[in-house]
Amino acid sequence: LLSLKLLGTAAGGGFPQWNCACPLCNRSRQSPSKIPARLHLQAVFSSGGSGQFLINASPDLKFQIESEPALKPSSSRGKRNTPIAGIILTGADLDQVLGLLLLREFQPLRVFSTAAVRRVLEANPFFRMLQRLPGQLTWVEIAGGQPFQVGESILCTPITMKGSLPYYTRNSADESPSLEDGEACLGLLIESEGRRIAYTPSLPDITDDLKSLYESCDTILVDGTFWSDAELSQTQAGTPRARDIGHIPMSGEDGSVAQLKSITRPQKIFIHINNTNPVLDPESLERKTIEDAGWQIAPDGWQWR
Ligand SMILES: [Zn+2]
Repeated sequence: LLSLKLLGTAAGGGFPQWNCACPLCNRSRQSPSKIPARLHLQAVFSSGGSGQFLINASPDLKFQIESEPALKPSSSRGKRNTPIAGIILTGADLDQVLGLLLLREFQPLRVFSTAAVRRVLEANPFFRMLQRLPGQLTWVEIAGGQPFQVGESILCTPITMKGSLPYYTRNSADESPSLEDGEACLGLLIESEGRRIAYTPSLPDITDDLKSLYESCDTILVDGTFWSDAELSQTQAGTPRARDIGHIPMSGEDGSVAQLKSITRPQKIFIHINNTNPVLDPESLERKTIEDAGWQIAPDGWQWR
């Protein structure tokens, strides 16, 4: 049976964030039992005995692997081995790819990504550490709307999203080429034996197509980065607004809660929560508001099966 687990649920910086002394981060440090800390977003899914598939590779991946029995090596398979059968990249953001560098140690890996994401990683000398042995790294090209199978019975369909390559790919002499939607940023629809879950931690907009896809799912994991559009820009001068960096906020007339009010079939779960988002406090009014609207905030360790 298809199952999916979240080994972390936080947006970039994790929670609390190392350099943040905001009331939420401070209260989490003081009373982690009331406001739990969260690792960077990391999902893993599997079905039957066909191995474990990671969605992206977070900067906390080493700890997330050690915390999850299904991801540990086994002495019955020799000295060096891993149950990780593949890593599906939905973008090239550092929080999505840094964990790949933690998976070197000459371990053969299979990485699914768009051609654009592959080009970005192959241009970075750090990633040569994953290609020291012949056959160490196997790339599988994926594209928006084109289903591919993993394991024995899991069908994955990349969901085309608007979005550009991350800031580090820019180069003043040669601005990064313009890309089609879905080349830099994807969601993922995962299905097996008639059950479907959508993984969309980065939502720049909500189209009618996306709404009908959501309505066909049993569970949807949705971008919960920000509560409000101005939330990040209020923390530090020069930081952008939520919508400018590809995240629809939860609140407001055109926020995700309002826009997805008509979606009633699936279980609705927010993931990728930024350390500035007041819903992190289970006692907050904002948390109550989204729960009253039928949403849940996934904790680290959340499991779907
Ligand atoms: Zn903070």
